[in-house]
Amino acid sequence: MSAIRRPKQEYHERTTRNMERHLPTPEWNIRQKVALTCRILAAEGHESALAGQITARGQEPGTYHMLRFGLGFDEACASNIILVDDDLNVLEGEGMPNPSNRFHLWIYRHHPRVNSIVHTHPPHVSALSVIGEELAVAHMDHTMFFEDCAYLPEWPGVPIGDEEGEIISAALGNKRAILLAHHGQLVACSSAEEAAVMAVFMERAAKLQVLARAIGPIKPIRPELAREAHDYRLKPKAVGATFDYFARRIAKSQPECLD
Ligand SMILES: [Zn+2]
Repeated sequence: MSAIRRPKQEYHERTTRNMERHLPTPEWNIRQKVALTCRILAAEGHESALAGQITARGQEPGTYHMLRFGLGFDEACASNIILVDDDLNVLEGEGMPNPSNRFHLWIYRHHPRVNSIVHTHPPHVSALSVIGEELAVAHMDHTMFFEDCAYLPEWPGVPIGDEEGEIISAALGNKRAILLAHHGQLVACSSAEEAAVMAVFMERAAKLQVLARAIGPIKPIRPELAREAHDYRLKPKAVGATFDYFARRIAKSQPECLD
């Protein structure tokens, strides 16, 4: 019996159709998605006391969901996700927003494609950030960052002012991710699910890079294959299913975060 050989594009198209048909669409509301993302990132080692923020556009233009300031990622619940306006005034919920979220507003203002932002200071990203090295994309699992991760080589200071927002927003350009020297990482994505998944894999990519460099030089991958894998990894249904997998684990072990 001779093996069937088809152009790879046919398999891509079949996979996309099957994902549409068989992978469930997550049923979490946006507050639950932000709270779940906080908890997922806490479980992934992104916690750095109160540093880092996760935000998502609200239903009304110029409104944004974010965790109440003063809480750690592992304390996030749907009920402590507040809604603010485009000057960080609270519209719904108790407490105050993280003043550093001001630079998120700059990104939202200048990048209409962006619906959710995750910014964290996880250990391996932070290690790369202090030696002045960009993210190396040389493993299939991390191709979502291939030609999609910018680099800001200068640290503009704590991002509570407008200048820092302007600098980070401009350095991001039309990419989804950015490594911020002496600071951390940021992903700016079309959905909360995509931002969560990319943030998880950004730290995992940095961890692999730190491990790999200890034993040898990193060999590059072929750009055309990396581009194909980038698009494959970022199919919305694949991203949604990956988020759902992380979210289900959290919802099972920490169900209070959904309230
Ligand atoms: Zn930060």
